[in-house]
Amino acid sequence: SASKKVIKIMLNKRVLITGGVSGIGRAIATAFAQQQAVIVCGGMIDKEEQQPFIDQICADGAAACKIDTTDISDGLAARKMVQHMVEEFGGIDIVVNNAGIQHVAAVENFPAEKWQAVLDVNLSAPFHISAAAIPEMRKSGWGRIINIASVHGQVASAHKSAYVAAKHGLIGLTKTIALELCDTQITCNAICPGWVRTSLVEAQIKARATISGKSVEQEALELVQEKQPTGRFMQPEQIADMVLFVADEKAHNITGSAFTLDGGWTAQ
Ligand code: NAD
Repeated sequence: SASKKVIKIMLNKRVLITGGVSGIGRAIATAFAQQQAVIVCGGMIDKEEQQPFIDQICADGAAACKIDTTDISDGLAARKMVQHMVEEFGGIDIVVNNAGIQHVAAVENFPAEKWQAVLDVNLSAPFHISAAAIPEMRKSGWGRIINIASVHGQVASAHKSAYVAAKHGLIGLTKTIALELCDTQITCNAICPGWVRTSLVEAQIKARATISGKSVEQEALELVQEKQPTGRFMQPEQIADMVLFVADEKAHNITGSAFTLDGGWTAQ
């Protein structure tokens, strides 16, 4: 009888994941590793944690794994990240613009430098990295650009002006890139998670607990229930599954879209 052959669709595909060393990005890196991709993970990670991280991603199946700790709030440096990857691996097939930061404050109190920092990382870095990657993808005739936006790319919450503006902008950027590449085999899509319990959200939960005096777990529950009718957090692995779906060959005609994975948040 014919044995069932598992086809690794992402075998040797060269994938850049900004913020790939933690949270949602790490789950995305793991998912691509299981498909035997070549992976470059961006992000801030302590020196002593770097080799164990690489060892784990390789143990998960990656054909190769590198870490690039470039601060992508510098647009030129972000572009160079792509160049270094091309020099090392001969090209770039998939970009996952995942790095992101948050700052919570009312508009009238929002520090200008925080506004700039959130826009630089969440919106300008995806622009610069995409701009550097597209010519390389054109050369090989295939590519995927996947932007991790947010429900905050589609609806707002109070006190998150910079993040909401950047994520709305990221969805606009996604649509524009998609249209510019419609005559190629390169697609560009956005994924819009609701609450995922990563360090980015943990900081918000702790800040709320400090103010309210409630336990961190109680605040986590209230935070998720305020916005998500399911009352449950999204899991990083579920975001990664969606990334793999749009990265797949079969998704060649899906472009310029924004997919919400949000426990019903934006259905209300
Ligand atoms: P996280 O804090 O675990 O990951 C963010 C990553 O971005 C980190 O690896 C960090 O090192 C990297 N990063 C931040 N600033 C950087 C810089 N200047 N240069 C290089 N790297 C930088 O948080 P996460 O929740 O995994 O966030 C991943 C993405 O998902 C973000 O874009 C975030 O906005 C988005 N998102 C998260 C949630 C959520 O609920 N956690 C919901 C919707 C969207």
